[in-house]
Amino acid sequence: MEIIQLSLINDYLFCPRRAGLKLVEGIRSANVHTVKGDQVHEHADLPGYENAKGTQVWRALPVWSKRLGLSGKCDIVEVRFTLHARGSPKTIQSLHPVEYKKGKRRKFDNDDAQLCAQALCLEEMFGLDIPAGAIFHAASQRRREVEFTDELRAKTKAAITAIHQLLQTQTTPPAVHKPQCAECSLYESCLPEFTSQPPALAKANQALFATDD
Ligand code: SF4
Repeated sequence: MEIIQLSLINDYLFCPRRAGLKLVEGIRSANVHTVKGDQVHEHADLPGYENAKGTQVWRALPVWSKRLGLSGKCDIVEVRFTLHARGSPKTIQSLHPVEYKKGKRRKFDNDDAQLCAQALCLEEMFGLDIPAGAIFHAASQRRREVEFTDELRAKTKAAITAIHQLLQTQTTPPAVHKPQCAECSLYESCLPEFTSQPPALAKANQALFATDD
């Protein structure tokens, strides 16, 4: 199975075409939102660890899942260890991934799915159950706990499968012009006003190119 970048889950759930433009067509572009996002990640992008109030904090931890064909990075993982007798090796008791986001404290499903994918990787790597993580919202300096429910896990896995299909079929989904296009860093490459089609025209195009096999 080919390996896809974990961050594409966020792109795909924001807009499937955005994931296709990056993955299939190799387009990358920055705008004010991506630059702010990069600034927020500056500290968390420095690999290392520190101890804080009985918890060890791992920064910029590479993660992967062979089973899901996924690789990426956790901004922060908060680690708790089980205490043993003096001199015995420590064992990991729990892992809690934390993702940094530039905006205010609000709930975005695509951020939650990206965080959930990190947890799926960590579960496979460490053989532990990870019931929850958190999103740290830089603009409001607050964090929001995210529970990895069955529903969120299913949604995340469905997005991963769909992205693998984009890669396999080398298909970029059509544009759908919507309000969030204004925030998209790929707007200039996508030009959704011109490339999105009204439903009737899209149907006619489908019929025109359909084959009878
Ligand atoms: S401009 Fe809109 S349709 Fe195009 S990739 Fe971005 S969000 Fe998707």
